[in-house]
Amino acid sequence: MKLADIPGQEGVKALLRQGLESGRIPHAQLFAGPPGSGKLPLALAYAQWLMCHQPGENDSCGECASCRKVDKLIHPDLHWVFPVISRQGESEKPGSEQWMREFRQAFTQNPHLEYNDWREAMQADQKQLNISRHECYAILSKLGLSAFEGRYKVVLLWLAEYLGDAGNLLLKMLEEPPDRTVFLLVSSQPEQILPTILSRTRTLRVPPLDTDAIKSHLLDAGYPAERVAEVALFADGNLHKALQAMNEEPYEHGRRFMTLLRLAYGSKATEVQRWVNEAGDTGREALKGFMDYGLLLLRQCYLYRHLQSQSNGWSSEENDFVVKFSPFISAPSLAAMQEALETAAYRLERNGHQRLVMHNLFFDLQEALAAERKRQMKASTHRPLAVGSGPLFGA
Ligand SMILES: [Zn+2]
Repeated sequence: MKLADIPGQEGVKALLRQGLESGRIPHAQLFAGPPGSGKLPLALAYAQWLMCHQPGENDSCGECASCRKVDKLIHPDLHWVFPVISRQGESEKPGSEQWMREFRQAFTQNPHLEYNDWREAMQADQKQLNISRHECYAILSKLGLSAFEGRYKVVLLWLAEYLGDAGNLLLKMLEEPPDRTVFLLVSSQPEQILPTILSRTRTLRVPPLDTDAIKSHLLDAGYPAERVAEVALFADGNLHKALQAMNEEPYEHGRRFMTLLRLAYGSKATEVQRWVNEAGDTGREALKGFMDYGLLLLRQCYLYRHLQSQSNGWSSEENDFVVKFSPFISAPSLAAMQEALETAAYRLERNGHQRLVMHNLFFDLQEALAAERKRQMKASTHRPLAVGSGPLFGA
Protein backbone atom coordinates (compact mmCIF):
# COMPACT_ATOMS: atom_id res chain seq x y z
CA MET A 1 0.00 0.00 0.00
CA LYS A 2 1.45 3.36 -1.06
CA LEU A 3 0.73 6.67 0.64
CA ALA A 4 -0.85 7.79 -2.62
CA ASP A 5 -3.42 4.98 -2.31
CA ILE A 6 -4.78 6.41 0.93
CA PRO A 7 -7.57 8.97 0.64
CA GLY A 8 -7.05 12.50 1.97
CA GLN A 9 -4.80 13.20 4.98
CA GLU A 10 -2.48 15.43 2.94
CA GLY A 11 -1.30 17.18 6.11
CA VAL A 12 -0.22 13.92 7.76
CA LYS A 13 1.47 12.73 4.57
CA ALA A 14 3.38 16.03 4.35
CA LEU A 15 4.65 15.60 7.92
CA LEU A 16 5.81 12.06 7.16
CA ARG A 17 7.59 13.30 4.02
CA GLN A 18 9.29 16.09 5.93
CA GLY A 19 10.63 13.58 8.44
CA LEU A 20 11.99 11.33 5.73
CA GLU A 21 13.49 14.23 3.77
CA SER A 22 15.31 15.59 6.77
CA GLY A 23 16.58 12.13 7.63
CA ARG A 24 15.23 12.54 11.16
CA ILE A 25 13.08 9.49 11.50
CA PRO A 26 11.58 9.11 14.98
CA HIS A 27 12.31 5.62 16.25
CA ALA A 28 8.93 5.42 17.94
CA GLN A 29 5.91 7.11 16.42
CA LEU A 30 2.25 6.89 17.39
CA PHE A 31 -0.43 7.28 14.70
CA ALA A 32 -3.36 8.47 16.82
CA GLY A 33 -6.72 9.15 15.24
CA PRO A 34 -10.44 8.38 15.36
CA PRO A 35 -11.92 5.28 13.66
CA GLY A 36 -11.97 5.42 9.88
CA SER A 37 -9.39 8.20 9.61
CA GLY A 38 -6.89 5.94 7.86
CA LYS A 39 -4.29 5.71 10.62
CA LEU A 40 -3.49 2.01 10.15
CA PRO A 41 -3.14 2.22 6.33
CA LEU A 42 -1.02 5.37 6.81
CA ALA A 43 1.30 3.59 9.21
CA LEU A 44 1.60 0.62 6.86
CA ALA A 45 2.27 2.82 3.80
CA TYR A 46 4.90 4.69 5.78
CA ALA A 47 6.52 1.38 6.79
CA GLN A 48 6.51 0.31 3.14
CA TRP A 49 8.27 3.54 2.21
CA LEU A 50 10.91 3.08 4.91
CA MET A 51 11.55 -0.47 3.73
CA CYS A 52 11.37 0.16 -0.04
CA HIS A 53 14.46 -0.78 -2.10
CA GLN A 54 14.03 2.16 -4.47
CA PRO A 55 12.05 4.79 -2.57
CA GLY A 56 10.89 7.90 -4.41
CA GLU A 57 10.84 11.39 -2.95
CA ASN A 58 7.20 11.25 -1.99
CA ASP A 59 6.36 7.60 -1.67
CA SER A 60 7.50 3.99 -1.90
CA CYS A 61 7.93 2.54 -5.40
CA GLY A 62 5.17 -0.02 -4.91
CA GLU A 63 6.95 -2.46 -7.21
CA CYS A 64 10.17 -3.73 -5.65
CA ALA A 65 10.34 -7.07 -3.87
CA SER A 66 10.13 -5.33 -0.50
CA CYS A 67 7.04 -3.30 -1.41
CA ARG A 68 5.31 -6.37 -2.73
CA LYS A 69 5.99 -8.29 0.46
CA VAL A 70 4.79 -5.44 2.65
CA ASP A 71 1.69 -5.20 0.51
CA LYS A 72 0.89 -8.87 1.09
CA LEU A 73 1.70 -8.49 4.81
CA ILE A 74 4.42 -11.14 4.52
CA HIS A 75 7.61 -9.08 4.84
CA PRO A 76 9.90 -10.80 7.36
CA ASP A 77 11.20 -7.46 8.71
CA LEU A 78 7.75 -6.04 9.31
CA HIS A 79 6.66 -7.38 12.68
CA TRP A 80 2.97 -7.07 13.45
CA VAL A 81 1.77 -6.90 17.02
CA PHE A 82 -1.89 -6.66 18.02
CA PRO A 83 -4.11 -7.97 20.81
CA VAL A 84 -5.29 -11.56 20.47
CA ILE A 85 -7.08 -14.30 22.37
CA SER A 86 -5.70 -17.76 22.96
CA ARG A 87 -6.68 -20.23 20.30
CA GLN A 88 -9.12 -22.91 21.27
CA GLY A 89 -7.44 -26.15 22.21
CA GLU A 90 -3.94 -24.73 21.91
CA SER A 91 -1.79 -24.76 24.98
CA GLU A 92 0.80 -22.46 23.43
CA LYS A 93 0.76 -18.88 24.65
CA PRO A 94 -1.13 -16.70 22.21
CA GLY A 95 0.71 -14.26 19.99
CA SER A 96 0.03 -12.17 16.90
CA GLU A 97 1.98 -14.61 14.75
CA GLN A 98 -0.57 -17.34 15.36
CA TRP A 99 -3.30 -15.02 14.13
CA MET A 100 -1.59 -13.55 11.05
CA ARG A 101 -3.67 -15.56 8.59
CA GLU A 102 -6.92 -14.15 10.05
CA PHE A 103 -5.42 -10.69 10.32
CA ARG A 104 -4.31 -10.66 6.66
CA GLN A 105 -7.79 -11.67 5.62
CA ALA A 106 -9.50 -9.08 7.80
CA PHE A 107 -7.13 -6.29 6.78
CA THR A 108 -7.43 -7.10 3.07
CA GLN A 109 -11.18 -6.98 3.40
CA ASN A 110 -11.07 -3.66 5.23
CA PRO A 111 -7.82 -1.78 5.95
CA HIS A 112 -9.79 0.55 8.22
CA LEU A 113 -10.83 -2.18 10.59
CA GLU A 114 -11.16 -1.42 14.30
CA TYR A 115 -11.14 -3.34 17.54
CA ASN A 116 -14.66 -4.78 17.20
CA ASP A 117 -14.09 -5.94 13.62
CA TRP A 118 -11.01 -7.73 14.85
CA ARG A 119 -12.93 -9.34 17.72
CA GLU A 120 -15.45 -10.60 15.20
CA ALA A 121 -12.76 -11.87 12.82
CA MET A 122 -11.26 -13.88 15.71
CA GLN A 123 -14.69 -15.00 16.92
CA ALA A 124 -13.63 -13.82 20.34
CA ASP A 125 -17.14 -13.87 21.86
CA GLN A 126 -16.70 -12.81 25.47
CA LYS A 127 -12.96 -13.53 25.64
CA GLN A 128 -10.52 -10.79 26.58
CA LEU A 129 -7.98 -9.68 24.01
CA ASN A 130 -4.54 -8.67 25.10
CA ILE A 131 -0.92 -8.21 24.12
CA SER A 132 0.92 -10.57 26.44
CA ARG A 133 4.32 -10.59 28.11
CA HIS A 134 5.08 -13.58 25.95
CA GLU A 135 4.46 -11.43 22.87
CA CYS A 136 6.70 -8.63 24.19
CA TYR A 137 9.55 -11.11 24.79
CA ALA A 138 9.04 -12.40 21.25
CA ILE A 139 9.43 -8.86 19.84
CA LEU A 140 12.60 -8.31 21.83
CA SER A 141 14.17 -11.51 20.58
CA LYS A 142 13.13 -10.87 16.96
CA LEU A 143 14.65 -7.40 17.03
CA GLY A 144 17.82 -8.83 18.54
CA LEU A 145 18.44 -10.85 15.36
CA SER A 146 20.72 -8.99 13.00
CA ALA A 147 19.99 -10.52 9.60
CA PHE A 148 17.30 -8.72 7.63
CA GLU A 149 16.58 -7.96 4.03
CA GLY A 150 15.01 -4.52 4.16
CA ARG A 151 16.51 -1.10 4.82
CA TYR A 152 14.56 -0.91 8.06
CA LYS A 153 12.99 -3.22 10.55
CA VAL A 154 9.56 -2.07 11.57
CA VAL A 155 7.38 -3.14 14.48
CA LEU A 156 3.78 -2.20 13.71
CA LEU A 157 1.86 -2.20 16.96
CA TRP A 158 -1.83 -1.92 16.22
CA LEU A 159 -4.34 -1.16 19.02
CA ALA A 160 -1.45 -0.08 21.24
CA GLU A 161 -3.91 0.73 24.05
CA TYR A 162 -4.16 -3.02 24.69
CA LEU A 163 -0.54 -3.17 25.69
CA GLY A 164 -0.89 -3.47 29.47
CA ASP A 165 1.85 -3.63 32.05
CA ALA A 166 3.65 -6.11 29.81
CA GLY A 167 4.46 -3.08 27.65
CA ASN A 168 7.00 -1.96 30.24
CA LEU A 169 9.22 -4.77 28.94
CA LEU A 170 9.59 -2.73 25.74
CA LEU A 171 10.59 0.59 27.31
CA LYS A 172 14.31 0.20 26.90
CA MET A 173 13.86 -0.95 23.31
CA LEU A 174 11.62 2.02 22.54
CA GLU A 175 14.19 4.38 23.96
CA GLU A 176 17.23 2.91 22.28
CA PRO A 177 16.21 0.56 19.51
CA PRO A 178 18.86 -1.23 17.47
CA ASP A 179 20.08 0.57 14.37
CA ARG A 180 17.44 1.05 11.65
CA THR A 181 14.61 -0.21 13.79
CA VAL A 182 11.38 1.74 13.97
CA PHE A 183 8.30 1.30 16.14
CA LEU A 184 4.98 2.45 14.67
CA LEU A 185 2.10 2.43 17.15
CA VAL A 186 -1.50 2.85 16.04
CA SER A 187 -4.41 3.73 18.31
CA SER A 188 -7.91 5.22 18.44
CA GLN A 189 -7.58 5.72 22.18
CA PRO A 190 -4.15 7.21 22.84
CA GLU A 191 -5.27 8.36 26.30
CA GLN A 192 -5.40 4.69 27.32
CA ILE A 193 -1.84 3.88 26.33
CA LEU A 194 0.62 3.34 29.18
CA PRO A 195 2.14 6.73 30.06
CA THR A 196 5.60 5.16 30.14
CA ILE A 197 5.15 4.13 26.50
CA LEU A 198 3.55 7.40 25.48
CA SER A 199 6.38 9.49 26.87
CA ARG A 200 8.86 7.59 24.69
CA THR A 201 6.83 8.02 21.52
CA ARG A 202 6.26 10.88 19.13
CA THR A 203 2.56 11.37 18.49
CA LEU A 204 1.27 12.06 15.02
CA ARG A 205 -2.35 13.19 15.12
CA VAL A 206 -4.48 11.83 12.30
CA PRO A 207 -7.67 13.92 12.06
CA PRO A 208 -11.07 12.65 10.82
CA LEU A 209 -11.19 12.51 7.02
CA ASP A 210 -12.84 15.41 5.26
CA THR A 211 -16.11 14.66 3.52
CA ASP A 212 -14.69 15.38 0.07
CA ALA A 213 -11.93 12.81 0.53
CA ILE A 214 -14.55 10.24 1.53
CA LYS A 215 -16.73 11.15 -1.43
CA SER A 216 -13.97 10.93 -4.01
CA HIS A 217 -12.69 7.66 -2.56
CA LEU A 218 -16.15 6.11 -2.80
CA LEU A 219 -16.70 7.46 -6.31
CA ASP A 220 -13.30 6.11 -7.41
CA ALA A 221 -14.31 2.76 -6.00
CA GLY A 222 -17.25 2.80 -8.41
CA TYR A 223 -20.17 3.39 -6.04
CA PRO A 224 -23.16 5.26 -7.50
CA ALA A 225 -23.02 9.04 -7.00
CA GLU A 226 -26.48 9.36 -5.45
CA ARG A 227 -25.75 6.80 -2.76
CA VAL A 228 -22.27 8.27 -2.16
CA ALA A 229 -23.80 11.67 -1.40
CA GLU A 230 -26.21 10.09 1.06
CA VAL A 231 -23.60 8.02 2.86
CA ALA A 232 -21.00 10.80 3.06
CA LEU A 233 -23.69 12.89 4.74
CA PHE A 234 -23.56 10.82 7.90
CA ALA A 235 -20.08 9.32 7.81
CA ASP A 236 -18.64 11.93 10.22
CA GLY A 237 -15.22 11.75 8.61
CA ASN A 238 -15.13 8.01 9.20
CA LEU A 239 -14.33 6.03 6.06
CA HIS A 240 -14.85 2.77 7.91
CA LYS A 241 -18.42 3.73 8.65
CA ALA A 242 -18.94 4.98 5.08
CA LEU A 243 -17.67 1.74 3.53
CA GLN A 244 -19.81 -0.31 5.84
CA ALA A 245 -22.90 1.67 4.89
CA MET A 246 -22.00 1.24 1.22
CA ASN A 247 -21.78 -2.51 1.52
CA GLU A 248 -25.10 -2.81 3.22
CA GLU A 249 -28.18 -3.06 1.21
CA PRO A 250 -29.38 0.50 0.56
CA TYR A 251 -31.66 1.72 3.32
CA GLU A 252 -31.26 -1.44 5.36
CA HIS A 253 -30.77 0.66 8.49
CA GLY A 254 -33.75 2.75 7.42
CA ARG A 255 -36.10 -0.18 6.98
CA ARG A 256 -34.98 -1.71 10.25
CA PHE A 257 -35.35 1.51 12.18
CA MET A 258 -38.73 2.40 10.73
CA THR A 259 -39.96 -1.10 11.60
CA LEU A 260 -38.65 -0.68 15.13
CA LEU A 261 -40.58 2.56 15.62
CA ARG A 262 -43.75 1.07 14.19
CA LEU A 263 -43.41 -1.88 16.57
CA ALA A 264 -42.69 0.40 19.51
CA TYR A 265 -45.86 2.33 18.71
CA GLY A 266 -47.92 -0.77 19.33
CA SER A 267 -47.67 -4.35 18.15
CA LYS A 268 -47.73 -8.06 18.74
CA ALA A 269 -45.13 -9.61 21.02
CA THR A 270 -44.09 -12.23 18.46
CA GLU A 271 -43.22 -9.58 15.90
CA VAL A 272 -41.14 -7.72 18.46
CA GLN A 273 -39.30 -10.90 19.33
CA ARG A 274 -38.57 -11.60 15.69
CA TRP A 275 -37.25 -8.08 15.18
CA VAL A 276 -35.06 -8.29 18.28
CA ASN A 277 -33.58 -11.65 17.26
CA GLU A 278 -32.88 -10.57 13.73
CA ALA A 279 -31.36 -7.24 14.70
CA GLY A 280 -29.47 -8.79 17.62
CA ASP A 281 -27.71 -11.22 15.31
CA THR A 282 -26.33 -8.47 13.08
CA GLY A 283 -22.65 -7.50 13.39
CA ARG A 284 -21.78 -5.23 16.30
CA GLU A 285 -20.26 -2.52 14.12
CA ALA A 286 -23.28 -2.50 11.82
CA LEU A 287 -25.52 -2.08 14.87
CA LYS A 288 -23.55 0.95 15.98
CA GLY A 289 -24.12 2.37 12.50
CA PHE A 290 -27.79 1.60 13.00
CA MET A 291 -27.87 3.72 16.19
CA ASP A 292 -26.20 6.63 14.37
CA TYR A 293 -28.74 6.30 11.61
CA GLY A 294 -31.61 6.34 14.12
CA LEU A 295 -30.33 9.53 15.72
CA LEU A 296 -30.19 11.25 12.35
CA LEU A 297 -33.64 10.13 11.29
CA LEU A 298 -35.20 11.26 14.57
CA ARG A 299 -33.48 14.63 14.28
CA GLN A 300 -34.83 14.92 10.76
CA CYS A 301 -38.36 14.24 12.09
CA TYR A 302 -37.92 16.97 14.68
CA LEU A 303 -36.69 19.45 12.06
CA TYR A 304 -39.57 18.60 9.80
CA ARG A 305 -42.08 19.13 12.58
CA HIS A 306 -40.77 22.63 13.19
CA LEU A 307 -39.55 23.79 9.80
CA GLN A 308 -41.43 21.51 7.38
CA SER A 309 -38.14 21.16 5.53
CA GLN A 310 -37.22 17.97 3.68
CA SER A 311 -33.57 17.22 3.21
CA ASN A 312 -31.76 15.79 0.20
CA GLY A 313 -29.91 12.60 0.83
CA TRP A 314 -32.93 10.70 2.16
CA SER A 315 -34.92 8.25 0.05
CA SER A 316 -38.58 8.90 -0.72
CA GLU A 317 -39.51 6.09 1.67
CA GLU A 318 -37.60 7.83 4.46
CA ASN A 319 -39.09 11.20 3.60
CA ASP A 320 -42.60 9.71 3.75
CA PHE A 321 -41.82 8.25 7.11
CA VAL A 322 -40.49 11.57 8.40
CA VAL A 323 -43.72 13.31 7.42
CA LYS A 324 -45.87 10.71 9.16
CA PHE A 325 -43.74 10.26 12.24
CA SER A 326 -42.75 13.86 12.95
CA PRO A 327 -45.92 14.64 14.99
CA PHE A 328 -44.57 12.27 17.67
CA ILE A 329 -41.20 13.92 17.92
CA SER A 330 -41.50 16.71 20.45
CA ALA A 331 -38.52 18.03 22.41
CA PRO A 332 -39.11 15.63 25.36
CA SER A 333 -39.75 12.54 23.22
CA LEU A 334 -36.73 13.34 21.03
CA ALA A 335 -34.54 13.62 24.13
CA ALA A 336 -35.82 10.32 25.54
CA MET A 337 -35.36 8.48 22.25
CA GLN A 338 -31.89 9.92 21.70
CA GLU A 339 -30.91 8.76 25.13
CA ALA A 340 -32.24 5.28 24.36
CA LEU A 341 -30.14 5.06 21.18
CA GLU A 342 -27.03 6.46 22.83
CA THR A 343 -27.37 4.02 25.71
CA ALA A 344 -27.71 1.14 23.27
CA ALA A 345 -24.60 2.30 21.36
CA TYR A 346 -22.69 2.55 24.64
CA ARG A 347 -23.72 -0.95 25.67
CA LEU A 348 -22.67 -2.34 22.30
CA GLU A 349 -19.31 -0.61 22.65
CA ARG A 350 -18.91 -2.31 26.03
CA ASN A 351 -19.69 -5.68 24.50
CA GLY A 352 -23.18 -5.96 25.93
CA HIS A 353 -25.23 -8.97 24.81
CA GLN A 354 -26.63 -7.83 21.48
CA ARG A 355 -30.15 -9.22 21.65
CA LEU A 356 -30.52 -7.89 25.16
CA VAL A 357 -29.34 -4.46 24.07
CA MET A 358 -31.87 -4.43 21.24
CA HIS A 359 -34.64 -5.59 23.55
CA ASN A 360 -33.91 -2.77 25.98
CA LEU A 361 -33.80 -0.30 23.13
CA PHE A 362 -37.24 -1.45 22.05
CA PHE A 363 -38.69 -0.98 25.56
CA ASP A 364 -37.10 2.45 25.97
CA LEU A 365 -38.53 3.65 22.66
CA GLN A 366 -41.93 2.19 23.49
CA GLU A 367 -41.90 4.05 26.78
CA ALA A 368 -40.89 7.32 25.13
CA LEU A 369 -43.72 6.99 22.60
CA ALA A 370 -46.29 6.10 25.27
CA ALA A 371 -45.28 9.15 27.31
CA GLU A 372 -45.62 11.30 24.21
CA ARG A 373 -49.11 9.94 23.54
CA LYS A 374 -50.11 10.72 27.11
CA ARG A 375 -48.88 14.29 26.74
CA GLN A 376 -50.86 14.67 23.52
CA MET A 377 -54.00 13.17 25.10
CA LYS A 378 -53.79 15.69 27.90
CA ALA A 379 -53.40 18.53 25.41
CA SER A 380 -56.23 17.18 23.27
CA THR A 381 -58.85 17.64 25.99
CA HIS A 382 -58.78 21.23 24.71
CA ARG A 383 -58.41 20.55 20.99
CA PRO A 384 -58.89 17.59 18.63
CA LEU A 385 -56.05 15.07 18.33
CA ALA A 386 -54.24 15.71 15.07
CA VAL A 387 -52.03 12.69 14.88
CA GLY A 388 -51.79 8.97 15.30
CA SER A 389 -54.58 7.85 12.99
CA GLY A 390 -52.65 7.75 9.71
CA PRO A 391 -52.21 4.51 7.76
CA LEU A 392 -48.65 4.16 9.08
CA PHE A 393 -49.67 3.60 12.66
CA GLY A 394 -53.18 2.29 12.15
CA ALA A 395 -51.99 -1.22 11.30
ZN1 LIG B 1 9.61 -0.39 -3.32
